Amino acid sequence: MTKRDYYEVLGVSRSASEDEIKKAYRQLALKYHPDRNQGNKEAEEKFKEAAEAYEVLSDPDKRRRYDQLGHDGLRGTNYRDFNNVNDVFSAFGDIFGQGFGGGIFEEVFSGGQRRRRTGHGQPGSDLRIRLPLTLEEIASGVEKKLKIKRQRTCETCKGSGAKGSSGRSACTQCNGTGELRQVSRSMFGQFVNISACPTCDGEGKVIRDPCGTCHGEGRVQGESTIKVTVPAGVSNGNYIPLQGQGNAGRRGGPPGDLIVMIEEEEHPQFTRNGDDIIYDLIISFPVAALGGEVEVPTLGGKARLGIEAGTPAGRMLRMRERGIPHLNSYGRGDQIVRIQVWVPRKLTAKEKELLKELAKSEHISPTEEETRGARSFFEKVKDAFS
Ligand SMILES: [Zn+2]
Ligand SMILES: [Zn+2]
Repeated sequence: MTKRDYYEVLGVSRSASEDEIKKAYRQLALKYHPDRNQGNKEAEEKFKEAAEAYEVLSDPDKRRRYDQLGHDGLRGTNYRDFNNVNDVFSAFGDIFGQGFGGGIFEEVFSGGQRRRRTGHGQPGSDLRIRLPLTLEEIASGVEKKLKIKRQRTCETCKGSGAKGSSGRSACTQCNGTGELRQVSRSMFGQFVNISACPTCDGEGKVIRDPCGTCHGEGRVQGESTIKVTVPAGVSNGNYIPLQGQGNAGRRGGPPGDLIVMIEEEEHPQFTRNGDDIIYDLIISFPVAALGGEVEVPTLGGKARLGIEAGTPAGRMLRMRERGIPHLNSYGRGDQIVRIQVWVPRKLTAKEKELLKELAKSEHISPTEEETRGARSFFEKVKDAFS
């Protein structure tokens, strides 16, 4: 099998910084990680492919060899082939600190183990937050600071809920086991029903002397600021999971997750169509007939666009690579400029005179044949768009 270009695999340019490479890899690993794509062979291959690309491009020496000689340049180095997913976990488990999807990776890269209840405390609940973004922000990628109200671990008692270390003692109702067993008999035999102890909520310990700050909860309501990095190219309905950034657990229980939901704001001028953006440009009849150069807004600022002589209303002009970057792959969409021809509503006597004069001349009105052609022209335009 021929290997794909590593830059292409990560969707970064050849001049990408270490940081960009790391970011790109995180996104791919997040997208293709096995927990989310169970039994999906293709995702697993992509996951390994990305890890391999990252292994080379994150190492300055290997990257230099690769830049000079391509895949051949890596022969003879201590270069790893990722044959299975666990190799990936053991190689890069440490790069996923706090930040983008941090928590999820601690979990995935520690061998795919799901978080379990630790025996004491109840898990915190998940939080969802909507993050509205402009098209410009989506096109460039953006780092946002979010202010959220959430329960935080109480600093006074460090989450235990008790005042001092002697504030907690074993629950007497369940003898510290956290569960109650009830034996019931029926005509089908004997059943043992196990339920969480109501006195200690299944924790096995009760608080004799509760913390004054949190009244024994181990957590307090507060406001936190969270930084979230949004990659370029996201769209409505995408979400970024930030594991462990939700509500703090009760009495030292594990925290919930924060799910950041992406919402695309409507743009006053552009309409998004996949990764292309559509812009309606109104030009005057003389420009449509004679051609010219006009200024159009793009997501990256103003740009000049040449209009050919004889451009009809409805024509689509494509401005390459002026659209939204593809999420997790190289390149970006286009800006499509849809031509409209301006029909003036207010005319001076002089202008009317000139138009009447013009109307009499040979090429101003369509011939009978051209009139019939109009329908097929608009059909074509419609086809190009569907
Ligand atoms: Zn407390
Ligand atoms: Zn108990």
